[in-house]
Amino acid sequence: MQQQNFDYDLLVIGGGSGGVRASRVAAGLGARVAVVESAQLGGTCVNVGCIPKKLLSHAAHFSQLADEARGYGWQMAQPQFDWPTLITNKDREIERLNGIYEGMLTGAGITVIRGHAALSGPHSVLVNGQSISARHILIAVGGTPHLPNIPGVEHAISSNEAFHLKQLPQRVVVVGGGYIAVEFASIFHGLGAQTTLLHRSQQLLRGFDADLGLHLAQEMAQQGMSFRWNEEIQSIDKQADGLHLQLKSGEQLVVDCVMYATGRVPHTEGLGLDVAGVHRTHKGAVEVDSRFTTNVPSIHAVGDVVDRMALTPVALAEGTVVAHHLFGKGGKHAPDYELIPTAVFSHPQIGTVGLSEKVARERFGAVQIFKSSFRPLTNRMGAEPENVFLKLIVSKADQRVRGVHMVGEGAGELMQGFAVALQCGATKQQFDATIGIHPTVAEELVTMREPVRE
Ligand code: FAD
Repeated sequence: MQQQNFDYDLLVIGGGSGGVRASRVAAGLGARVAVVESAQLGGTCVNVGCIPKKLLSHAAHFSQLADEARGYGWQMAQPQFDWPTLITNKDREIERLNGIYEGMLTGAGITVIRGHAALSGPHSVLVNGQSISARHILIAVGGTPHLPNIPGVEHAISSNEAFHLKQLPQRVVVVGGGYIAVEFASIFHGLGAQTTLLHRSQQLLRGFDADLGLHLAQEMAQQGMSFRWNEEIQSIDKQADGLHLQLKSGEQLVVDCVMYATGRVPHTEGLGLDVAGVHRTHKGAVEVDSRFTTNVPSIHAVGDVVDRMALTPVALAEGTVVAHHLFGKGGKHAPDYELIPTAVFSHPQIGTVGLSEKVARERFGAVQIFKSSFRPLTNRMGAEPENVFLKLIVSKADQRVRGVHMVGEGAGELMQGFAVALQCGATKQQFDATIGIHPTVAEELVTMREPVRE
């Protein structure tokens, strides 16, 4: 096929974080671009991910703030929470963002095509029975929740449905130990549901520094949340009084809602990867090289579907790299996946950047660990006995700070600045030479002098 005969220079499948970013950058570089989206523009992050999750998480925090306020002299009746109001207002905000995404795309001269896209060749895609050709195709279809194949699983929900429940369930089991599980457990608990976190191991947040999960579990238990460790649901039976859960241990639980947060898988069903001859990894992700090109030179992929790090800013960075590589002067490289800061919007929050202690020890051998846990000033007068946790990991030989980890309110906001420091290769001496801001929790991160272990 001749280049001039293609309908577009770039056809993007998926109008989520990675797809929209790549489209806009490519259009800005002069490419003729179309985006195919089967659902709402903005993808997971805007519709059923980061944005609505953070709004719900914020909503759930008010009950704790109300408890604290009493210690500061505020007299108030027990506040009442109304779930339909929260969901209606959240939906209104999401609709506003959907409109902004549409405006951004059309304003940049990008064609938005509604429908499900399937690859039909190295340069062609089928949408609504119509064939569209493009010099390059970008797969940015994201991921989708994975639920286990157990009897009665059709009565369970994933995070997708949690955002649209008609009422707040009174009794909830959240299954999983990853960040989505702890965030939703905190949301349900904070909003007043009797919440149990059920996990097949005894460690929360695998892949993070192990102390973070330990500290978080202690704080959540202190708030009154229940845990079932080393446990699995074998079957779910819907009865008049609720969902009857048969657990592996033999125990039975009766609840109103079971939410699985047991991982997400690449959203490649019906995408035609085999038709176009695109290779997958053993986990089903689209296999790409360092420039996000698949084994088919005209087909590229970014974001959750390539399964490097499933976070919005990562999908954005990868989308930028692809667009520059295809239509610019190149020169943009994949992000350094080890230095990506991230937050977990549980209660309390987690903020983290860099290596865990385990990985740092494997990599550098001799490391110094600085830790601190205390009840912050603002928690001392209220009912909340919450402690913050802070941890620094330093490689002994060169004194570089390799990891900064925190559990405590504001951890997400705080960690962004420390991520810049780590990106610049900051040393422990430079942390020590930095003057603290008093009185804050963050000042502790520049005043920890004695390692707790080496
Ligand atoms: P997506 O944003 O998922 O976009 C893919 C789009 O492709 C979707 O709109 C989909 O409808 C469309 N699509 C799929 N198949 C087709 C097809 N065949 N044809 C046409 N269109 C198709 N990340 C953070 O950084 N911070 C957070 O706090 C955070 N919280 C999260 C909370 C939850 C509950 C979840 C589920 C995720 C969260 N994430 C968070 C992860 C973040 O949402 C994803 O990493 C990000 O959205 C991935 O972007 P993407 O472009 O790869 O895919």
